[in-house]
Amino acid sequence: MTKGIIGAIIGDIAGSSREMKPVSREGFKLFTKLSTITDDTVLTVAVAEWMLDRKRVSIDQSLRKWATNYPHAGYGSSFKRFCNSAPGTSLTSIHNGAVMRVSSVGFLATTIEECMALARESAVPSHNSKEAIEAAQATAVAIFLARNGATKEAIRDHIESHFNYDLSRPYDTLREELRVARTDRSQANREANHERVVGAYTSVQDALIAFLCGESYEDVIRKAIYLGGDADTEAAIAGGIAAAYYGVPDEIVEQVLIYIPSDILEVVNRVDGTSWRASKQIPPKSLRWSKNDIVIYASDEYDTKGESSYYLTHPSRFHRHYNEGYALIILGDTPVLLEEQVALLRRKCEDGKHLRWHLHDIGIESGMLTTEEFRALFAWALELDNVLVTPTLLNR
Ligand SMILES: [Mg+2]
Repeated sequence: MTKGIIGAIIGDIAGSSREMKPVSREGFKLFTKLSTITDDTVLTVAVAEWMLDRKRVSIDQSLRKWATNYPHAGYGSSFKRFCNSAPGTSLTSIHNGAVMRVSSVGFLATTIEECMALARESAVPSHNSKEAIEAAQATAVAIFLARNGATKEAIRDHIESHFNYDLSRPYDTLREELRVARTDRSQANREANHERVVGAYTSVQDALIAFLCGESYEDVIRKAIYLGGDADTEAAIAGGIAAAYYGVPDEIVEQVLIYIPSDILEVVNRVDGTSWRASKQIPPKSLRWSKNDIVIYASDEYDTKGESSYYLTHPSRFHRHYNEGYALIILGDTPVLLEEQVALLRRKCEDGKHLRWHLHDIGIESGMLTTEEFRALFAWALELDNVLVTPTLLNR
């Protein structure tokens, strides 16, 4: 059982494929091939790293660093504006972006006063509004109280009296209200509904109601997603609070390790005091590449296949693309050439320890290699921590 920010990250992953896509029943499959980390996870880790090292990094620096490392995490428009602004800028937004990332404050603060002050500080760069700051504070304080043994009644009373939240709505009533609101497809209503769903105040209110009526960690994130709105963010907020209250069962963490990149997991381990090891397998949906992820793909001897030929014949483009995360290996038609290319790749992987190499099943589909030949040729990749592979090489 873990009480920590992993609870928020699991919520993000479970909700990622259901954002604005309501599920039809509460017993849905928690993790699928479409599940992935999103901005909620990347920025939760940004705030967490700042919390661990506040003397040396500012929150502004940490948010920018992680957003630069993970440019495709699905940031909201106001956060993108923040990334494009000069360092030290403070932007106003009343949306839920500062709430979804705040969990580490609740887990690491030593007093409730410190929790309030740090939650404010974590929100200010991109969400400098009364509404967003208070929502971040309410979330962090709920986590702080839960992790220190407060009952649900005490958490509810504290949030209602200190933050002017109304948590009296039963979960089913709330869910029905949201469902009915979605049925009116008029432009005006859609906009109002969107604001309702991504607003900081309402997001926290809904996540708290899911938490208060849930019966376990898993039940709470299911209820947050089942509301049918900004599912990843709702489940990240509710999941952080539920993790502080119930703890997250190890079996659930084991199911999500495949989705969490090693650098993110490292920060999670430091905050939560755990020692989870990153998966060796390439995540099912590798679209949230960081700057350090390099995809290895195949082409033929003359490199006339696919995009590789384009980038080879346009070296400057190739270079640019490579920096964004691609590598090339040419699969020649002679075994000698092939072995040379693989040896070169191996050296690149050994030298590029700061990079994460994604080795797909290259050469098998095109008939260049049998599965056995592929496994023999790339067996070395299993020994390198920074090379991610598919089930084929893992022999699964
Ligand atoms: Mg998200």
